[in-house]
Amino acid sequence: MRQLFFVERGKFEWRDIAVPALAADTDAVVRPLSVARCDLDLYIANGVAPLSGPFPFGHEVIGEVIDAGPAAGVRPGDRVIVPFQLSCGRCASCQRGFTASCEAYPPRAAYGLGMNYGGGLSEAMRVPFADHMLLPAPTALTNAQLASISDNIPDGWRAVAPHLKARPGASVLVVGGLAQSVGIYAAGLAVSLGAGRVLYLDDDPGRRALAETLGATAEPLALAEGREPADQFEITVDASGLQPALRFALLSTARDGVCTAVAIYFEPLVGLPLTPLYMKGVTFQTSRVSARGVLPDLVEHIACGHFHSDAAVTRTLPFSLAAEAMDAPDIKLVFETDLAG
Ligand SMILES: [Zn+2]
Ligand SMILES: [Zn+2]
Repeated sequence: MRQLFFVERGKFEWRDIAVPALAADTDAVVRPLSVARCDLDLYIANGVAPLSGPFPFGHEVIGEVIDAGPAAGVRPGDRVIVPFQLSCGRCASCQRGFTASCEAYPPRAAYGLGMNYGGGLSEAMRVPFADHMLLPAPTALTNAQLASISDNIPDGWRAVAPHLKARPGASVLVVGGLAQSVGIYAAGLAVSLGAGRVLYLDDDPGRRALAETLGATAEPLALAEGREPADQFEITVDASGLQPALRFALLSTARDGVCTAVAIYFEPLVGLPLTPLYMKGVTFQTSRVSARGVLPDLVEHIACGHFHSDAAVTRTLPFSLAAEAMDAPDIKLVFETDLAG
């Protein structure tokens, strides 16, 4: 079967590999129908993120079950959401919801991100522990509405949803940037979760327009013009991946507030303004999302019509154009299969 491989910066290849087969009673084999480009995929493609190929590519997948073991909990024909990280659902970490730290897999086990678990831009992928991993894709939701539900939407959700649950109506600041869609999703989800003021700051007019479409107030970040933090927000999100913008988000976090950095910093050392954070009692979290752990609440929220995630999709293309488009400047690309099924 056909599988897209990332080879090296700027280079992808379609290769023929063996069709994955069931290896356990809880396995399923899924045919990817729709694969969204993760914010990180762009930086793998253009060489900003230091991942070495070759490896199977694509990890935000809506698919159809084509084969299932007797204990897989799904049946051929089921349309499913495939979380990007692999997790077992049985270990202590999974039981606590920390599916990004599943003890049944090596650290950072995921589809399409440098390991050999397969990738979404393919004819089929094997899903172990399918009874835990796979969630039914609600029939009322299109592939476009579920684009990035495997990773980037949960990433935005975890930065705002638990904190808004603890503080209903809290104010939210999102500093947008390199984690392009995660910041937009965080802002839109905060609006849909009943946050008070939701301010999205970004120098990119295209991302500002999308954040406004999802109900946030958007302004340029304007750090180059000497802007300093003035207003204080109970919940802040750094999606910038840029140290001056991270500092801005941290210093904009109110007393006893919480700041989540969803962007990855590849520098070995990042400076933080610790004294003001100490004085204000700011909680700072930086981590990968536990995608599977947060999906049930998130899918229910979207299925109830609270959040129009498809508004963030800037372009839809067939799988056969994915290699050429992977480093395009779009905010959210979605690829629909045109491979034999
Ligand atoms: Zn991703
Ligand atoms: Zn586990």
